[in-house]
Parts: sequence; C-alpha cells; structure tokens
Amino acid sequence: MMDLLWSQNKFLGIEWHFWKVIGWLGNVAFSSRFIIQWYASEKRKQVVIPTSFWWLSLFGSLCLLSYAAFYQRDSVFIFAYAFNWIPYIRNLIIQKRSAATLVCPACSAVCSSIANFCFSCGVSLSSTAKPTPQILTRTELENPKRETRNKPT
Ligand SMILES: [Zn+2]
Repeated sequence: MMDLLWSQNKFLGIEWHFWKVIGWLGNVAFSSRFIIQWYASEKRKQVVIPTSFWWLSLFGSLCLLSYAAFYQRDSVFIFAYAFNWIPYIRNLIIQKRSAATLVCPACSAVCSSIANFCFSCGVSLSSTAKPTPQILTRTELENPKRETRNKPT
C-alpha cells in the first residue's frame, strides 16, 4: 500500500517540487469552485455565484498562470490563463458594489440595487413604481433561512 503512495521518490506517481505544488494548488482551487457554486445553488434552489467562487477562480488561475509561465513555458497554456484574472476581479468589484439589493415589485426576485431591470422577469426597476429598497446583507442573501423579503415591517 505504501509503495503505491510513495515509490521511487514519487508521491501518487508525481515527482514533487515547488512548481508542482503551485500547479496542483491551482488545480484544486479551480476545481473546488464548481463544487462550492453548485452547493450554494442547491442550498438556495436558485443559481447563485458566491463570492468565494471568484476568489478561488482568481487564486487558481494565477497559480496555473505562474506554473505555465515559469515552469512549463508553453504558449498555449500561458494564453489559456493570461487574461482570466480581468473578469474575476471585475466580478468581485461588481459583487461588492451590488451588495445592497431591492425586491422586484412584479415577481419578488431579489435584485441588485444598481440593476436597471429585474434579472428574473425583466421589469424595469428604475422607472416604474419603485419598491421600497430592502437592504439585505450578504449573509442574509446567502442564507435563505434568514431571508427577510416580503416580511411586513
Ligand atoms: Zn421581477
């Protein structure tokens, strides 16, 4: 059994060194983000992308970019991860700015306070009868049990 794990200075058949650790860290971060996103969506019964998804994407792609650029030195591999960080950082910024939410008057979907239209039914959120903006914290958004929408005040 130990021979299967450790043999000829290899663990799991991989010869480990600094760049292998960086590359595998990138792989683990990049794959785990899908499980985290799936779990968040199942919990909320709605497709959601948690903030951790973008952080894991950013960390994973930077690890893989360093591995590609400094160890593999392969142009195809480098290009695959060269520009990913731009939308990841942008999404983190948008998510931070849109943390305040309001409830759609037509379908009660929780929308971003900076959105012009409801993501769910498409109704204009800016011109029509504006609902009382209901500020929900990120914890309330990610935890459907503590959701306060439609609750009379
Ligand atoms: Zn709506």
